[in-house]
Amino acid sequence: MPADAAGDYDVVILGGGSGGYACALRSAELGLSVALVEKGRLGGTCLHQGCIPTKALLHAAEVADVAREGASFGVRTTLESVDMPGVNAYKDGVVSRLYKGLQGLVKAAKIDYVEGAGVLDGPHTVVVGERRLTGRNVVLATGSYAKTLPGLEVGGRIMTSEQALSIDHVPGRVVVLGGGVIGVEFASVFKSFGSEVTIIEALPRLVAAEDEAISKQLERSFRKRKIAFKTGVRFAGATQEGDVVTVSLESGESIEADLLLVAVGRGPVTEGLGYEAAGITVDRGFVPTDSRLRTGVEGVYAVGDIVPGLQLAHRGFAQGIFVAEEIAGLAPACIEESGIPRVTYCDPEIASVGLTEAQARDKYGDVATYEYNLGGNGKSQILGTQGFVKLVRQVDGPVVGVHMIGARMGEQVGEAQLIVNWEAHPEDVSGLIHAHPTQNEALGEAHLALAGKPLHAHA
Ligand SMILES: Cc1cc2nc3c(=O)[nH]c(=O)nc-3n(C[C@H](O)[C@H](O)[C@H](O)COP(=O)(O)OP(=O)(O)OC[C@H]3O[C@@H](n4cnc5c(N)ncnc54)[C@H](O)[C@@H]3O)c2cc1C
Repeated sequence: MPADAAGDYDVVILGGGSGGYACALRSAELGLSVALVEKGRLGGTCLHQGCIPTKALLHAAEVADVAREGASFGVRTTLESVDMPGVNAYKDGVVSRLYKGLQGLVKAAKIDYVEGAGVLDGPHTVVVGERRLTGRNVVLATGSYAKTLPGLEVGGRIMTSEQALSIDHVPGRVVVLGGGVIGVEFASVFKSFGSEVTIIEALPRLVAAEDEAISKQLERSFRKRKIAFKTGVRFAGATQEGDVVTVSLESGESIEADLLLVAVGRGPVTEGLGYEAAGITVDRGFVPTDSRLRTGVEGVYAVGDIVPGLQLAHRGFAQGIFVAEEIAGLAPACIEESGIPRVTYCDPEIASVGLTEAQARDKYGDVATYEYNLGGNGKSQILGTQGFVKLVRQVDGPVVGVHMIGARMGEQVGEAQLIVNWEAHPEDVSGLIHAHPTQNEALGEAHLALAGKPLHAHA
């Protein structure tokens, strides 16, 4: 169907996760008629199996650490135990309140919410059971699933994040396969809850997508927290017998655990959905798009985790909004992938935006960098955290990367992303005042130093 031909709807969206529902809400705001097809629960991975439940677990983990460490602040506390059913009730309460709110938003926006599994039948029709929904535009937003490795079957004591989110006890020993974002977040939670944790990572460092200095600091912090990790080692296999799962490595070493968490990345959900038959290119399961999120088939867009790139909820939101505005003819500005902020919520937290030092060197040749140590930041000292803010700038040019690590540093990513996306120079930021004593000051101090006028730092 040509884009200007009539359909039942202006937009039919397949998948009601971050990308899909953001597109639906913005489309409805712009006066477009919308059908949103979802086979599971509105909100998708982020709300039900991803961002929200994991961050609730991480908060419960922080409470456990605070209870355990009260004495170092002069407050006598002890951690009696972690009651997983109680933790799960708290987590599920958070999810269900947000879920209700989201359902209310979709209803109020008069979006036609269609429950059931949809498949494409040609580029402009989504079939859900008996219903055929035709749209002038179709948006593919079917998201992702937790991958495993060949020969490694999930079940029993071998879990992905999906099952690990609702376990009813604290396992004694956990092996986490994968030292990326999801792996280090779960490792952090389990350690705080009292498990003995070992991370196995094939790449040479944890959180390998981050600036190398961040990986080094995280590894230092994890060592201090007694979270064991083995990098540059390859997984060979795992067997379950009785209550024990035995993980073997290609090095010949084997590790026994009560739980193996498989966190080796997420694959796109695109198989069997009629995408290729409708003429849409699918590359290793992903749906490649141009910078305007067009699939190459007229009137068909893709958003979220099925589009190659960062698999983050706020990228999905931004892409969904972009596509709605594009369809409405608002000609929105393209989304710059490197300008998307990234936060890893383990303890210590990691927050970054823009290019790593290595990427910036590849792109610009010589660059200037500065690391401001949180040791000089009053609030970080009060919290008892260690870490730094690292800036990467083009020589005599704008800041192109901000990389931060330390407790609660995720909260600082808002200003960091403004700096990078507005192409601010350190000299611009150094004229802005950061409130004292906050961790936000560390960002200000790093810019002061890079602008040549350090305050609480050595020149
Ligand atoms: C453990 C974990 C922690 C995470 N933490 C964070 C975080 O802290 N911050 C962050 O930004 N991101 C985080 N993410 C990533 C984030 O959840 C995803 O990037 C985001 O959910 C992607 O949105 P999406 O709309 O592309 O896909 P999804 O949220 O996966 O939604 C896709 C939806 O499509 C539906 N669907 C699929 N096929 C069909 C079909 N045939 N018919 C109808 N419906 C269908 C699915 O049921 C699903 O609801 C995390 C992910 C995980 C797994």
